[in-house]
Amino acid sequence: MRSEYDVVIIGAGPIGGYLAKKLNERGHSVILIEEHDEIGRPFQCAGLINPLAMKKVELRETVQTTIWGANIHSPNGTVVRVGVPNVDRTYSVCRKLFDEAVVRQSIASGSEILLSSKPVSASIEEEYCIVGIDGPSGLSEIKCKLICGADGAHSWVRRQFRMGKPTETIIGFQIEVTGYQNREGTLDMYTGKSISPGFFSWAIPSGETTRIGTWTKPELMNGVSSEEFLKNLMLYSKFRNKFENCVEIGRYCGPVPSGIVRFPLKQRVALFGDAAGICKPTTGGGIGPGFKQVDILVPKLSKSISDNNLSTNAMKKISASLDEMRKDQRRKKALRDAFLTEMDDHELEEIFSVWARPEVTKLINEVGDIENPIPLGIRMLREVPEFRRLAGRAVKAVLWG
Ligand SMILES: Cc1cc2nc3c(=O)[nH]c(=O)nc-3n(C[C@H](O)[C@H](O)[C@H](O)COP(=O)(O)OP(=O)(O)OC[C@H]3O[C@@H](n4cnc5c(N)ncnc54)[C@H](O)[C@@H]3O)c2cc1C
Repeated sequence: MRSEYDVVIIGAGPIGGYLAKKLNERGHSVILIEEHDEIGRPFQCAGLINPLAMKKVELRETVQTTIWGANIHSPNGTVVRVGVPNVDRTYSVCRKLFDEAVVRQSIASGSEILLSSKPVSASIEEEYCIVGIDGPSGLSEIKCKLICGADGAHSWVRRQFRMGKPTETIIGFQIEVTGYQNREGTLDMYTGKSISPGFFSWAIPSGETTRIGTWTKPELMNGVSSEEFLKNLMLYSKFRNKFENCVEIGRYCGPVPSGIVRFPLKQRVALFGDAAGICKPTTGGGIGPGFKQVDILVPKLSKSISDNNLSTNAMKKISASLDEMRKDQRRKKALRDAFLTEMDDHELEEIFSVWARPEVTKLINEVGDIENPIPLGIRMLREVPEFRRLAGRAVKAVLWG
């Protein structure tokens, strides 16, 4: 290990790994600092990676199930089935293998990595920064031009440099089971106040097993734990027979930070992925948006690293290139709020009764994309009169926001 690099990245998750590779490709020296002694453990993830994100890393060998469709259940049991067989919508991957492979790509492109290590101090000077690291061989200091925080939802870097907070933190809870029955190549989504208030629960096939989870915001939980919501789905809901033969083999709980923080870049510091609040408000997906954020920022950051111009002003200008992502997150959140989060179960039933109409399901299949629901949302708000009334609150934000 040297004592000087262009960039120190805190956190060797998928976003830190991808960022390191992209910086290497532009000729910068990088060291990744990871607090755990292995990559990809522990993880909290349903493991869905969209085709666009998969194309960026070409890791098809980590795919456990290819998913073409979704069965979306209303609280009372109306099912809307979307998707077309053989048109791949998303991939369910093994996160451990995926994270390892992404980080391995960065090492192959020249990054170094320090495991079982974490930052204990960081100081910013005019021309450089110094990061204090506590690792297996004790304390050490690394000099660099830029510190990147890719250290997840509870980011140390974000807190250390007071870079703001994600707009929302949604709580995800998930178990992995054997014995769940679903249509091959499809995932199930369940809605309703008793199982996932304001959001949805899921059952996602992952090879031999299925990941069953629920997510919601703390302020909507009313003192009920995520575990109880999942129990309500599996033991007491209308759909309980689907879970009869399930045997739990693992459980995970974690936050989903969504809504880009106020200062994702400051003098000689930048946040990426969960640390920056990059997750999608509609699906909770963080890997695709995290890769996209890296692709947006790296070309500009690279030039600034080469010029060693990472001043407050320079970083402010680079930060503006995230404005479109910020706006997109806001519009998606508005759409989610209108169609899901702000609905009670009765209103949800009304929405499902419209979605289940053949011409609306056809529209969903033609225009629908869970990764990018805005075009579908706009078409539905324009073409389905019932939605104009139900989603009035969102029209302004979605159409002109
Ligand atoms: C229940 C649940 C389901 C989800 N499902 C999906 C899904 O299906 N698809 C999807 O795209 N996203 C999903 N997400 C979100 C996804 O898991 C995250 O967006 C993604 O892991 C973010 O990657 P990251 O590299 O930014 O952060 P992380 O994956 O959290 O990686 C951060 C890394 O930094 C390390 N680290 C943290 N602090 C320090 C420190 N101080 N020093 C050194 N190292 C540190 C950690 O050990 C870790 O290795 C889900 C989240 C939850 C909670």
